[in-house]
Amino acid sequence: MSFIPLVDLKAQYRAIKPEIDRAIQQSIDSAEFIMGERVRKFEEEFAEFCGARFAVACSSGTTALHLALLCCGVGQGDEVITVSHTFIATAEPICHCGATPVFVDVDPETYNIDVNLIEQAITPRTKAIIPVHLYGQPADMDPILRIAQKYGLKVIEDAAQAVGAEYKGRRVGTIGDFGCFSFFPAKNLGAYGDAGMVTTSNESDARRLRMLVNHGRETKYEHKIVGYNYRMDALQAGILSVKLQHLADWTEARRRLAHRYNELLKGLPVVTPAEKFHHVYHLYVIQCDNRDELQKALESEGIATGIHYPIPLHLQPCFQDLPGAGKGHFPVTEKIASRILSLPMFPELTDTQQDRIAETIRKFYEY
Ligand SMILES: *Cc1c(COP(=O)(O)O)cnc(C)c1O
Repeated sequence: MSFIPLVDLKAQYRAIKPEIDRAIQQSIDSAEFIMGERVRKFEEEFAEFCGARFAVACSSGTTALHLALLCCGVGQGDEVITVSHTFIATAEPICHCGATPVFVDVDPETYNIDVNLIEQAITPRTKAIIPVHLYGQPADMDPILRIAQKYGLKVIEDAAQAVGAEYKGRRVGTIGDFGCFSFFPAKNLGAYGDAGMVTTSNESDARRLRMLVNHGRETKYEHKIVGYNYRMDALQAGILSVKLQHLADWTEARRRLAHRYNELLKGLPVVTPAEKFHHVYHLYVIQCDNRDELQKALESEGIATGIHYPIPLHLQPCFQDLPGAGKGHFPVTEKIASRILSLPMFPELTDTQQDRIAETIRKFYEY
């Protein structure tokens, strides 16, 4: 019985080893390790891929969000609206700006922000909204943009899980004021370490972002603003340039596998993902009864699964001082946190492996 991981990064490397090895060697030979030509080239390729005017490379998805918030002028006393059901990194940078995250519950079908709950969360201190394109599916951006326009708010897309996903024909990251991407190794486009990107269509914002990532400078030793060291490594940019060329194929493979899972799981007491908008299936998440038992049954058959995420943000120990903290405030988030299960999902997953996963789930519910 061979083990099936949640994500198989070794299989991906095996498939493109010569290209990756060449890119790494070239980076080392050039001895240009931080920023430089490779980073600039990858920024251009990534902007073109997204259909964004500008892409500014940075050190992670978390720093991408921090940079976008700083660029919006979010600071002490401000509030930023986001979801209770997401990875912690969506909210941390809000706190790093001295602002307060204000959570909104999610839609029970798409797991993305419930657009009907946004307006009631707005106060005179609200500066921005961060919708998350969770699991790879775009949030419903039109109503979000309408609300943002009505109240004069900025929209920062957390597209960390959704590179390449499309909302009504536009790639995510180009719909709001800023798009924030993560190239964490397990993401759909993963580096061999940490890396991230901010996209924008605004030239002066792009210029400010470039200063912020690199010690507030445009020339070597003049620092116009107090910035950060949030730069991308050239090694990562070289690897990401190679991998970007495969992303469309990998996305197609993910989508095919997701649709195949839907077929294989038909008739079982599990809720398969609702595809409302073009979905790139960073994760394939089902909802099920007896989740913990099912997870154990899969584990004992050598099948890894995950829970994204078991503890909602408003129940995190670090956020207990926030408004809306504590049980009962976000019922959809709380309900799904006990029912969701992420099944293995990566482009190299074979049909045979997938059949075995589905068969194990079928057997579990037949007992
Ligand atoms: C991964 C992720 C981030 C953070 O990205 P890092 O590159 O790990 O810093 C932010 N938001 C979401 C939704 C993520 O999945």
